[in-house]
Amino acid sequence: MSILRWGWNDYFEAVWKKEERENAVPARVVAQSRGIWQVAGDFGECPADAAGKLRLAAEEGADWPAVGDWVAVELRDGGSAALIQEVLRRQSQFIRKMAGKKIAEQVMAANVDTALLVSALDGDFNPRRVERYLTQCWESGAKPVIVLNKADACERPHEKADEMQKVALGVPVCVVSAKTGLGFDAVEKFLVQGQTLVLLGSSGVGKSTIVNRLMDRTIQEVQEVRESDSRGRHTTISRQIFILPGGALLMDTPGLRELQLWDAEEGLAQTFSDIESLAAQCRFSDCNHTTEPGCAVQAAIKAGALEDWRLANWRKLQREQEFLRRKIDPEARHDERQRVKVLMRGVRQMYRDRKKG
Ligand code: GDP
Ligand code: ZN
Repeated sequence: MSILRWGWNDYFEAVWKKEERENAVPARVVAQSRGIWQVAGDFGECPADAAGKLRLAAEEGADWPAVGDWVAVELRDGGSAALIQEVLRRQSQFIRKMAGKKIAEQVMAANVDTALLVSALDGDFNPRRVERYLTQCWESGAKPVIVLNKADACERPHEKADEMQKVALGVPVCVVSAKTGLGFDAVEKFLVQGQTLVLLGSSGVGKSTIVNRLMDRTIQEVQEVRESDSRGRHTTISRQIFILPGGALLMDTPGLRELQLWDAEEGLAQTFSDIESLAAQCRFSDCNHTTEPGCAVQAAIKAGALEDWRLANWRKLQREQEFLRRKIDPEARHDERQRVKVLMRGVRQMYRDRKKG
């Protein structure tokens, strides 16, 4: 199957052409588990190992190959095995801090174009929870789409959609029922051939049910790989990227759904752009937006233009950021912020283009 089917595009073509890569071909990581990967490309699909120099350089941090990555591989044994030489520069990445004493980053999903942020319209409905996913999404470089599921179990789904739109500031909101199929034509607009999607959201909101519906009853051949990794352990991994009937790619990796915030400062500013722009109008530049005279944020709350829980939520997320910031090595943080800045510039440009178009 051609790499175009796996989402190869002009961006990666340009990255690839920048350097000489003797004996290497491009491939996409379609599954990952500990020290082994499954890669797909023009040659087909096969298990892959990381080349020694990559292992040394990456040390399982952000440079470690993740599901969705485009990599340069050297094929072995006539294409039945591969060695990953290099991870091509990502277009987007979902990162989470790794558990353990030292904070380190782990890429949960790479090169995601669109994230469907799923929330349920029944008893559990909570727009504030979506803010967190939105923040992570802006930070990753993927485009967010909010999917409100279980419309069949809700009396006034569109009132709740309006409520959601207030937190979502310009992000598309789709009202669906995975049970009845209602509203899926609106979601399908975002399933573009060659584009990669993920579903994010709390447990029980209906992500698996949505996946089943998107797959359109096609029986997904689940290819399992049994391989011994570098330490001789035997592991089984299944493919974590699926090709939907229309050609869009759906990524489903373990753990991605329980993302935690990483250094998402830029994303935070985007999600709360209304508060950020109010705060810029406060009389004092170091205003805490509590009792200071000339506070534009408090004025907006009094005037009913801003809801106070949004300010509270903004503060809470900022405190989390503050906590992480103190723990992160300043130099690494600088690099990461530069990277995010560049990414966000791209995202903003995309949204401007979209408005124009
Ligand atoms: P996940 O944890 O996000 O993957 O959620 P599941 O897909 O497992 O769904 C959780 C529960 O919600 C299951 O009992 C589903 O049958 C139910 N569910 C999913 N979608 C809908 C829907 O559109 N309407 C209703 N009423 N129930 C749904
Ligand atoms: Zn203020």
